[in-house]
Amino acid sequence: MALAANAAPCVTKFAQVPLSLGAIFWNLPTTVKCMNGAHMGWLTDFLGQSWHAIWTAASGALMPAIFFLCIGYVVKRKALFTDMMRALPQSGLNIQIMVFNLIFVVPLLTFSATFLSNFWHATGLVLFDPQDWSEWPVVAVILLAIVVGDFVGYWRHRFEHNSFMWPSHAVHHSDTEMTWLSLERFHPINRITTFVIDSSALLLLGLPPYAVVANSFIRHYYGFFIHADLPWTYGKWNILFVSPAMHRWHHSADRKAFGSNFATVFGIWDWAFGTHYVPGPCESALGVADEMEPTLWSQLTYAFRPKAYARLFRRKSDGDITPAE
Ligand SMILES: [Zn+2]
Ligand SMILES: [Zn+2]
Repeated sequence: MALAANAAPCVTKFAQVPLSLGAIFWNLPTTVKCMNGAHMGWLTDFLGQSWHAIWTAASGALMPAIFFLCIGYVVKRKALFTDMMRALPQSGLNIQIMVFNLIFVVPLLTFSATFLSNFWHATGLVLFDPQDWSEWPVVAVILLAIVVGDFVGYWRHRFEHNSFMWPSHAVHHSDTEMTWLSLERFHPINRITTFVIDSSALLLLGLPPYAVVANSFIRHYYGFFIHADLPWTYGKWNILFVSPAMHRWHHSADRKAFGSNFATVFGIWDWAFGTHYVPGPCESALGVADEMEPTLWSQLTYAFRPKAYARLFRRKSDGDITPAE
């Protein structure tokens, strides 16, 4: 159980990392606790986690915003501002979904992190003690965490494309003007499956906290990059690393690209498992045919509509015009 206690803070960090990076500017939890008294502890803790997540996400998004603004200007010059104006409504929706997740999902994941850690340790299935990794160079342990994280992420992403999981994952695919902010467009169910599956894999390996957190940071920030509106394909290096064009094809509404490019960092998983598809820069339309409006309500409720699961009960045909497998 001592091992579980060691691992819990690392999983808690892991829960917060996908939406955050940077300094904590304000310690609201303490203030709110003082105002409401201890009997409202769970609520104040929850609100405190939300506030903490919003501040860290806002500060963490600042550097990527400047980075993509600069790189976009270098690549597109004046066309950048036209593109930004066109993407504004979709980007606004991405931010709304991000804030919703920060308020309601991140605290939930943070609270459930300890439970998940204790659960896996109680099963006795954890392969190594975090101490076992101390013999390894830090860089090697981090690299291993990223490789394993990306491999598990590849299969988890394929799982999200099956007809049962698709209605929640479709929210991520519904952005028709993909930018780096599209990484924040995830349905809460999708956030939870990602957290549970990815963190369970790393917990089962008993990887030390620094490797778990490093994996989460690196894959998250590389995720911003592959969602950016950049035409880069990497040429033959696409087999090694996922390029922005490669992931854009994953979001394409062109059925030739359906069921392709599930990896986040290493293109080798798609190459090895036959899902690699990069014919060049992706100029095709993006988005899904699912009946979802570009509003917060419609995006969040789509996964709870029986109609969204209709394809579970019929044979796949040419009439299926979504990337669900
Ligand atoms: Zn997908
Ligand atoms: Zn994506």
